[in-house]
This record gives sequence, structure tokens and C-alpha cells, in this order.
Amino acid sequence: IFANVPKGPAIEVFALTRAFQDDASTKKVNLSVGAYRTDAGQPWVLPVVRKTEVGIATDELINHEYLPVTGLESFTRAATELVLGSESKALKEKRAFGVQTISGTGALRVAAEFLHHQLKRQTVYYSNPTWENHHKIFADTGFTKLHSYRYWDQNKRQLDLEGMLADLDQAPAESVIILHACAHNPTGMDPTHEQWKQIADLMERKKLFPLFDSAYQGFASGDPDLDAWAIRYFVDRGFELFVCQSFAKNFGLYCERAGNLTIVQQSGATRDMIHSQLTLIIRGLYSNPPAYGARIVSKVLNTPDLRQEWMESIKSMSSRIRQMRKLLRDKLVALGTPGNWDHIVNQIGMFSYTGLNEKQVGVLIKDYHIYLLKTGRINMCGLNTGNIDYVATAINAAVTS
Ligand code: PLP
Repeated sequence: IFANVPKGPAIEVFALTRAFQDDASTKKVNLSVGAYRTDAGQPWVLPVVRKTEVGIATDELINHEYLPVTGLESFTRAATELVLGSESKALKEKRAFGVQTISGTGALRVAAEFLHHQLKRQTVYYSNPTWENHHKIFADTGFTKLHSYRYWDQNKRQLDLEGMLADLDQAPAESVIILHACAHNPTGMDPTHEQWKQIADLMERKKLFPLFDSAYQGFASGDPDLDAWAIRYFVDRGFELFVCQSFAKNFGLYCERAGNLTIVQQSGATRDMIHSQLTLIIRGLYSNPPAYGARIVSKVLNTPDLRQEWMESIKSMSSRIRQMRKLLRDKLVALGTPGNWDHIVNQIGMFSYTGLNEKQVGVLIKDYHIYLLKTGRINMCGLNTGNIDYVATAINAAVTS
């Protein structure tokens, strides 16, 4: 039965992590995986999360019954309010609601299922480059027209807004356009507010459907309101849209799969119909979501002093990343490494598209035991005060070799 099953290609980021684990070098550095690390190079359980976990574990009123198909309501309400803002007109007018999903990936899949099967959408556009799972999720769902729009100018190492607008201008009406809400993965380069306005103008004129992928709210700048600016701007302009939220990075709840799909409609009259269809989609995919991560996020966001502690943790994560950006840029400049490295500090969030080419990446992996994606993307969180000199010296050697 199984004799003709072909072996699928390895997923680069997981293959690199495996190679890193198998590497016996004491100097090895993992800059590939998308997770936060402390300055000691360790994973971090946010103190407020740990505290909340203890409370949940000892709460006699909490049991392990199934959640409703669309998840924990106190979580979806808090998540939807976090992304749209407590003053959101769409919320006040009851034109927005959320359903719990299996983290950000699950939100994207449920969104894609709804758009394809209910609204008969066939065409999706994602940035070039983008998080590699975007293509797979929409292709697996049945979208037949998968396109990329220009986003990154490799020569100038900045956003290619002209290319992006030109490509979106060619998109047929009703195309689904995936937009990274903030901290674009993998480039770390976001549009400015002015550029977002131009993108919104074009999307409105061309009747394109915005699907915001929000995997880094609060983690990017340390300010959840600022990181949701683009989404709220589109909502204020009257767009109907989806937002796919992940709580993996901003709560450090990677494996707990806490996510939310927010739906913003023009009128609350469509809510029950949409909700019923999302319920059926989730029922067929995985019946109902896991409770653990959602309980933690709900408790923290809905308790003012815990929420304040969380705000302090996201500030500390984002400022450590900014500090690493500055240190890396300064060290490369001090070493006289050929090229301009300012893009490293101009980018935001977990990732930097360094501009290193595949050959240079090969040198870093083989000769220096520094693991990064072949596109030159690095996870800034893999850098710390203990390894940054080593990494900067290695990059300098790879660029000048
Ligand atoms: N979208 C983007 C752009 C991401 O970078 C990620 C994670 O790396 C996700 C979505 C989904 O992550 P998760 O499913 O772990 O929440």
C-alpha cells in the first residue's frame, strides 16, 4: 500500500534546527528558528504566563471538558479587542467578532477555507518573499491562482513599494491579499503609515480583500496599539477584512497553539451566518480548539495588573531585539565589512533579511556553525551579548571570502 509514497522535501527551518542540534561545536549558533531567546540563549516563559499557569493548575473550577467549537469566548473577545482596539467603532457597532483557532496557522487555514468554499475565491496574493507556509495553506485549501507581489528590493534592501503597487494593480477584483500586519516575516521591513495609505487606496479602488496576518502584535515595537496600526487604519476606512492572530510570539506560547480569527464586516447582520459557517469548517477540521493557551491569554488580557505585566514583558523582548540589531550593525561597520548594514536597524521584529547570499550562508553554516536560512534571514533573538562578536566576525569573513 505504501510502496509508492514519495519522500516529501524537508522543511528548511526544522532541518536546520536538527542540524544545529547534531552539531558538536561549542561555538554553534542557531539563527534559524522563529522563537525568542534570552540573552543567555534560552527560551523564555514570560513570568506573567508562569504565574497564570500556576493559578489555572490549582483552580478547582477548571476542568477538561470540551470548549465550544469556536473556542473560549472570553479569549476571542479579548483577542479581537486587542487587535481592533477598545475604542473600535467596528466593535461598538457589533460588526466584528472572533473565533478561536489553532494559533496563527489555524486562523489562516480556517480563513482560507471560508474564503474558498463560501465566497468561491480562487486567487490569493502574498508578498515575495513571505512566510513560506502562506503558499501551502492556500494551495492545500484549493485556491488555484496563487501569485506573489513584489515586496523586497534586494539591491536597495528596502521595501519595493512601487513594485508592490504595480503588482496589486494587476490583481483581479476580489483577490485575497495577504498583508503582514507588522514585523514582516522574513524581511523585517514594514510599510510606513504613508505607504499603508497608498496600499489601502489601491486595494479599495481595485476591490481587493485584505487578509492581515498578525503574528507579532506587541512583540514588534513593544506597543500592541502601534503594531495594530495598519489593521485599524483599514478598518476605519470601512474595509471588510480578516485578521489572523497568533499568540505564539507575544505570549511565548508557541506550542500551546492559541490563535484567533477576527472577522470585520460592514454590518452586524451577517454575523450569525458567518459564525455558523466558520463553526462547520472548524467542526470538520478539528472539532474544537485546545483550551490551555487560550485560558492563559484570556486571564492575562482580562486582568488589568496581569495585562500590565505582559506589556512590560513584550517591551523587554522587543527592546532586547532592537539592542541586538544595533550591536550587529555597529560591529559590522567597525569591522569594515563591505556594504551598508543600516537595513538591520531599520527593520523591525524577530527577523532580519541580512542580504547575505546563498554562498555566504553556506560559509557561515559549514565553517562557523552558524545556522540561518539560505535566503539570509536571521532570527535576531538568536543573538546575544555572548555570541554577537563571533557572529559579526563570521559574517565579515563570509562577505570578504
Ligand atoms: N504568520 C507569520 C508571518 C509567521 O511568521 C508565523 C509564525 O512564524 C505564523 C503566521 C504562524 O505561527 P503560529 O501558527 O505558530 O501561530
